[in-house]
Amino acid sequence: MSDLWNNTIGYMKKASKALNLDEEILDALLKCKRVLEFQIPLRMDDGKVRYFTGYRVVHNDALGVSGDGTRIVAGLTADEVKGLALVMSIKHAANGIPAGGAKGGIDADPTLLSEGEFERLVRGYVRGLFPRGAKVDVPGADINTSAKTQAWMLDEYEQITGIHSPGAVNDKPRILGGSLGGEDATGRGMYHLTLKICEEQDWAPEDVKVAIQGFGNVGSHYAKYLQSAGFKVVAVSDIKGGVFNPDGINIEDLLKYSRMTGSVVSFPDARQITNEEILLCDCDILAPSAVEDVITLRNAGDIKAKIIIEGANGPITPQADDVLYSRGIVVVPDVVANAGSAIVCHFERSQCATDNYWDLETVQAKLENQIIKSYVSMKNTAKELHISFRTAAWVNALKAIVKAMKLRGLL
Ligand code: NAD
Repeated sequence: MSDLWNNTIGYMKKASKALNLDEEILDALLKCKRVLEFQIPLRMDDGKVRYFTGYRVVHNDALGVSGDGTRIVAGLTADEVKGLALVMSIKHAANGIPAGGAKGGIDADPTLLSEGEFERLVRGYVRGLFPRGAKVDVPGADINTSAKTQAWMLDEYEQITGIHSPGAVNDKPRILGGSLGGEDATGRGMYHLTLKICEEQDWAPEDVKVAIQGFGNVGSHYAKYLQSAGFKVVAVSDIKGGVFNPDGINIEDLLKYSRMTGSVVSFPDARQITNEEILLCDCDILAPSAVEDVITLRNAGDIKAKIIIEGANGPITPQADDVLYSRGIVVVPDVVANAGSAIVCHFERSQCATDNYWDLETVQAKLENQIIKSYVSMKNTAKELHISFRTAAWVNALKAIVKAMKLRGLL
């Protein structure tokens, strides 16, 4: 069993206890509707054929079409994909998205493949998937997949079916039916949550110090939006290390520097810190936006931030989560905090279904409206049941899924 699967079971159990759900219902919620594992034969450039394992898991689709990303990483396992699919069911339901949870991927290291081999692998994945289409299960992008791979996936799907179906694949380029506002949706969603929380705390942006671990898609867009609103981004890190300046770092300059040098490390006008130190630095808001399991029992007691916004999936272990809750540190959990891209993926499906594409302002306004609604609903549940934001988000999600399953006669 992977940690991810065990952690998700733990959160599921906590939420089902808060909801007084029967054991049988919990058992049903822990089952995945469909687990597909298949072999992808890939003709390599040297003429030999190698086999790669592909996965697609649909955890639950009681609320609607299942969807979410496809990751291509070495060592990917069925358990990991199952855990990720379950979290997507929760993420969709906690954010009022009428969609079920799925995840897929290939156990492969793309850096060891040529561009041609990579394209053939992605297309082979779609053939092995028995693609089910816009009304059933919609694969999107995730680690090592992007608009480019999604364009190949869509093309392969349409070659198989002979039917134009832009809604069959998510995260594709705009010209093939993708949505505007998808690229930075996660960072933008976090920014709206940050503004909302600061408003509630009566904190003026210029007085708020934010530390961000991870300066990739999520962290860099979040940082950019924060700076534009006057927040002080005091610390930023990437895989190589971090930088700290108590007076605030100029994010535009840091972006230019990291594009030029490949890292934020040694950015002038800031002190060097490690990835362990950034989590413990002097800040009001901490946004772990890189990888999972960085806040553990080892460091949870020393965190100085008053608010943690989980940009990454699962950056806090369940045990550390309990410590933070007991210390009164507010954690906005991943299933709401980083739901921006899942929300815009839903917008993408809506636009494809009607063949009517929205302008950027419309996408952004709808994103803000949806993520704030999810936050308020989570907060109200937390207050009502005296539980953490995380458990409250899972409670809201389970309520919706269980209701849909009962109405369908599945419980
Ligand atoms: P990315 O690959 O664009 O960026 C990751 C960043 O984290 C990079 O700056 C990298 O250097 C840094 N990093 C990698 N390993 C690290 C380590 N061990 N310690 C410290 N820093 C490290 O990825 P991303 O799209 O920004 O995603 C980041 C996290 O957010 C992941 O957990 C991802 O699953 C989650 N997430 C992303 C999105 C999205 O829309 N991109 C949506 C939801 C959740």
